[in-house]
Amino acid sequence: MIEIKGLYKSFGDLEVLKDIDLQVKKGEILVIIGPSGSGKSTLLRCLNYLEKPNSGIIRVNNTKIDSKNVKNEEIYSLRKESAMVFQNYNLFNNKTVMENITEALVVVRKMEKSKAIKIGEELLKKVGLIEKRDSYPNSLSGGQKQRVAIARAMALKPSVILFDEPTSALDPELVGEVLEVMRDLTKLDITSIIVTHEMEFAKDVADRVIFMDNGKIVEMGSPNEIFSNPSNERTKEFLRKVI
Ligand code: ADP
Ligand code: MG
Repeated sequence: MIEIKGLYKSFGDLEVLKDIDLQVKKGEILVIIGPSGSGKSTLLRCLNYLEKPNSGIIRVNNTKIDSKNVKNEEIYSLRKESAMVFQNYNLFNNKTVMENITEALVVVRKMEKSKAIKIGEELLKKVGLIEKRDSYPNSLSGGQKQRVAIARAMALKPSVILFDEPTSALDPELVGEVLEVMRDLTKLDITSIIVTHEMEFAKDVADRVIFMDNGKIVEMGSPNEIFSNPSNERTKEFLRKVI
């Protein structure tokens, strides 16, 4: 489903991603862990060209982009393949919950409004927020906002959903409800890449775990290998600090 080859990304003199190679299978749940500043968000952002790599090839589903020769319609096509869930929700505050979910379907995908609303209703039931359909984001808790953001991402039926620390901005008592929604989602066979510091959750849902440090994939393996028996010294040290 996803292929990354020889990916480099710098901001000025700062090399943030250094020769990343990675493949993700259809339906796979890949969890990325690693210290702050190690390049996790940048990697996700390169996957949909929110950041343009300095070099490297990115393929998601049938869309492949070589940074040496990028066409705008390729970027447009790549962005259709993925949806992103951000730490800070990024909801439209002047739109209702339902409008947040249906907006892209109606405006970008040109779907009939009634059909989009049907999809919205289904997804809001799935994330347990159907009664909030006409509410505005400002009246929701952080956990509820994030559940709307997840429903919005799913509405687009992307090839892959990219989660960038979806629970990091939440008060501790709200983390559980979002993880629960994500856990349900992982059972639906939707290819997902999840950056998280929730190690217990990662252990539970991941098919594969990557440890990133300093712009590189330092170690990759099953949750059991990474969490119970890491082979790299830096992985061990990181896990000692966070668990
Ligand atoms: P992580 O998500 O693992 O915490 P990031 O990918 O956000 O790491 O950042 C990796 C490094 O790149 C950090 O040193 C960060 O300061 C830097 N960085 C990220 N985005 C930018 C940007 N737009 N401009 C300059 N530096 C950036
Ligand atoms: Mg980040």
